[in-house]
This record gives sequence, C-alpha cells and structure tokens, in this order.
Amino acid sequence: MSRRSFRVGRSKTGLGLFATREIPKGEVIVRYRGQKIRNDEADRRADRGNKYLYEVNNRWTIDGSSRKNVARYANHSCRPNAESDVLRGHKVIIRAIKKILPGQEILYDYGKDYFDLILKPIGCKCDKCEEKRKAERAEKRRLATRKRAREAKKAAAQKETKRKVSARKEAARSKPSRKSAGKASSRKAAPAKSSRKAKPARDAATFEQPLRNAA
Ligand SMILES: [Zn+2]
Repeated sequence: MSRRSFRVGRSKTGLGLFATREIPKGEVIVRYRGQKIRNDEADRRADRGNKYLYEVNNRWTIDGSSRKNVARYANHSCRPNAESDVLRGHKVIIRAIKKILPGQEILYDYGKDYFDLILKPIGCKCDKCEEKRKAERAEKRRLATRKRAREAKKAAAQKETKRKVSARKEAARSKPSRKSAGKASSRKAAPAKSSRKAKPARDAATFEQPLRNAA
C-alpha cells in the first residue's frame, strides 16, 4: 500500500470510505486492524453490541472497533466493489474487486451472517437492496392500479346491469296501462289487420303525397 487511496466521508448510512484516486482491480485498499481476541471473547463483545468483530478463523477474531482502524468505516453492499480477505491466517485486508473511480464509495460484502443478523432486521440500505425495494414498490403500485381499474370496470358493469334491471322493472310496472291502451288500439287496428293488402297501399299513398306536393 503506497499512499492512501481513500478518505473517510459522509455516506448515506453515516461514514464511509471514498476513493480519492482510481483504484485498480486487485489492489489492497486498507488493512482491517485491531486487537486479536479469542472467539468466545468475541461472542461476549458481540453481545455487548460490538459490530466490528471480524472472525478470521474458528479460534481468532479481530476486534476492529478502535477508531484508529479506518477500515471499519467501509460499508457493506450486496453489490460490492471490494472484498475482505484473510492473509496468512491473521491479516485482514480489503481489496478492490473491480476498478474503483475517484469519489466512489468503497464497499464490500460483510457476509451472510452479518447480513441476516444485523442488516436484514433493519433493512439493508445498499443500492442493490434499495433498487429491489423500489422495484417491488413500483410493482405493488402497478398491481394496485390494475386492481382499481378492474374494480371500477366491475362497478360500472354492475351499475349498468342495475340500471337495465330497474328499467325493466319500470317497464313492467307501466305495462298494465300500456296493455289496456294496446287492447283499445288493437281493437281499432283489427279491421286493418284483417285486410292486409289494404295497408301497404295506404302507406304508399301517404308516402307519395308529399313528393307530389313538392313537385
Ligand atoms: Zn443490500
């Protein structure tokens, strides 16, 4: 490691590490420093709320909670541009896994245990998870809009059926009076009906009359 390739700065979850120059893929960015402690001691410290415990193997853990350990400011991401690694069984480093541009935050995956235990309950704030949540919200909104449209259509159809039914009922209510009127007219119309031939002739006459007048 030559000159520091990063600075500590404001990130959306507090502090973070940001590249101050281009960091090529594979370059070791920073060492994760701290007291080397036994894992059972690490468990006790974890219970007291220490979130900077890096287990290097089944016996040893690095307690990186000291502020002198700048690597502790590197945040987690499910879409990382760096990774942590244990060298020679005890030295913990963070290394670029892709080219990191100046200004970009240096992020590595804290691992499944940390994710499940610490991040999942509060909701991971990384870009990947936020995009996922955003997409899920958009999908929910889309489905809700479709549901509303379907319900509105259904309601309109029900209203239309109701209207038709009430129209039929209305028609049924007014039928008796029409029936009696119909009877009267049918009686009057009866002679015309019996002589079917006479009717078209009369119709033709009434149709031709205005034409003749116009001429
Ligand atoms: Zn995430």
